[in-house]
Amino acid sequence: MTMHETPSLPHHPSPEQRKALDWLKSGPKGLLIGGKWVQAQSGKTFETTNPATEEVLTTVAEADSADIDAAVVAARRAFDAPTWSGISPHARAHLLLKIADAVERHAQELAYLETLDMGAPLSDNIGRAAQVATIFRYYAGWTSKICGTTNPTDAARFQYMLREPVGVCALINAWNVPLVMAANKIAPALACGNTALLKPAEQAPLTTLRLAELIEEVGLPPGVLNILPGYGATAGAAMSAHGGIDKVAFTGSTAVGRQVLQASAGNLKRVSLELGGKSPNIVFPDADLDRALAVAVDTFCKNSGQICSAGTRLFVHESLHEEAVERVARLAATYKVGSPLDADTKLGPLISQRQMERVLGYVDAGKNEGAQLAVGGQRKGNVGYFVEPTVFGNVSNEMTIAREEIFGPVLSIIPFKDEHDAVFKGNDTEYGLAAAVWTRDVSRAHRVARALKAGRVWINTYAEGDPVMSFGGYKQSGYGRELGAESIEAYTQTKSILMRL
Ligand code: NAD
Repeated sequence: MTMHETPSLPHHPSPEQRKALDWLKSGPKGLLIGGKWVQAQSGKTFETTNPATEEVLTTVAEADSADIDAAVVAARRAFDAPTWSGISPHARAHLLLKIADAVERHAQELAYLETLDMGAPLSDNIGRAAQVATIFRYYAGWTSKICGTTNPTDAARFQYMLREPVGVCALINAWNVPLVMAANKIAPALACGNTALLKPAEQAPLTTLRLAELIEEVGLPPGVLNILPGYGATAGAAMSAHGGIDKVAFTGSTAVGRQVLQASAGNLKRVSLELGGKSPNIVFPDADLDRALAVAVDTFCKNSGQICSAGTRLFVHESLHEEAVERVARLAATYKVGSPLDADTKLGPLISQRQMERVLGYVDAGKNEGAQLAVGGQRKGNVGYFVEPTVFGNVSNEMTIAREEIFGPVLSIIPFKDEHDAVFKGNDTEYGLAAAVWTRDVSRAHRVARALKAGRVWINTYAEGDPVMSFGGYKQSGYGRELGAESIEAYTQTKSILMRL
């Protein structure tokens, strides 16, 4: 089947998938403010499209500053109300567990909707829906373990510290893994007793809206979670600058992260930033080469390369360079690009025409700057935003394709001389989100893992994760961490109390 024949919908959706289609047909989607689904005060809406078919899926209410104001009032009221601030940690855990159960029950529906809205293969999104349930369960376990301390002092005093929620949190997300990103923020924010306004990305807001409906059904008090789809320059900027918001947790590009930080200065909100990456994946000659190269292909192709921690710079020892380029290109060429609803598809479309053009622009830059194009480099088909897996060999760290985040299926293979050179080149980037090292030498594995300046480092694997492990950046990949115990710190503040006896 050629790409222009790609069907807009599968021929035989399952009953679970049908629920997603029925939901789409049920009418335009609103904003969730104070427990009610409402239209934007301006009456404005925007369309969300299927990047595989370029067809409009539905229209969504477009929040702007007036709606953000209303949501902040609702979230503050909910934060102060005994129905939320007064409930026991066990009751909060119970709500989070019920959310996890609801996500699990609706996993097929959510995964299908996610694929229609942002284009990743359905099989990947089914795995992600399961991950979302795990994240809610993990933070349900935390609610009763968010402890303060009693502090040693003399006989005349009693000192202790309480760990309390931060307040009203603005959660702003990118479009590349919308459901998981929503869970990464909502689960710890609520576990710690905060209330929140979440803005999904304008390119793919649908699963966040559907997740919010499921969350409402479990009985969260009104106003605890408010959902405000809209554009960055209006809704996002209003959230970052709002004087009634205590914290902003942002996931997106480094450039916008800087704007969020500047806007937050007015009321000195707490800010955490999950930003871009250009992660080194370093393969030494003593590694299990078959596995290292297979995983290298998987990691740059996953989500069509639209993953912040993707291993987009593959460093191989110079003695292996030619072989690695040949093997990686051969393997990448076998990865099927096509409808994300097909079971054997490895790469669905990129999110938008703009993103596709941006990625193809980087391919041109690679060619113009003298990198060796080993495979790919073209758009596939003429409907939908599909780009072939693209491998460049003989890349130097100075080239544009090795320095800038492409956010598409483009891999740069860069030779290194020795361990020192590999670490130096791996760290020679403004980013520091993730990194990997492949070797059978245990000492070298740990030495290199320590030397790499990144928030997460894998040894002899890539992209594996668990909610117990924190995630976040060094350098311009941001600061603050999501997941793990560090997220509990990020969504709480401490209060020291001293009593004279
Ligand atoms: P983006 O920065 O353009 O947009 C991200 C979000 O910010 C969207 O919701 C957008 O509407 C909003 N936004 C835009 N302008 C804003 C403003 N002035 N004020 C407040 N909010 C604003 O990013 P993108 O292109 O949509 O996403 C891709 C980027 O996200 C990549 O750089 C990728 O690496 C990064 N990302 C990072 C992580 C991580 O965990 N570190 C995860 C996923 C994506």
